[in-house]
Amino acid sequence: MRLLLLIAAIVGVFLIVRTLLRSTGRRTPEKPEQLKQQGAMVRCAHCGVHVPQFEAYRSGNRMYCSRDHALADKRDHNED
Ligand SMILES: [Zn+2]
Repeated sequence: MRLLLLIAAIVGVFLIVRTLLRSTGRRTPEKPEQLKQQGAMVRCAHCGVHVPQFEAYRSGNRMYCSRDHALADKRDHNED
C-alpha cells in the first residue's frame, strides 16, 4: 500500500508542476503588446541610429538617440 501512496504523491507533484508550467507559459503570450513596446526601435532623426523607444529622446514629433543629437538637430533646424 505504501507504493500506491508513493505513486499517488509522484503523480500529484507531476500534475502540480505541469499546471504551474502551463500557467507561466500562458502568461508570456498574454502580453505581446507590452513586449512589443519594450522592443520597439525608433530612428534617431539626427544620425539615423536605431535606439529602443524607452531610451530615445523626444523633441516635438522627432526621436533622437541622445540629448546631444536632439539639441544638435534643433540647432540645425533653427539655422534655416
Ligand atoms: Zn543620433
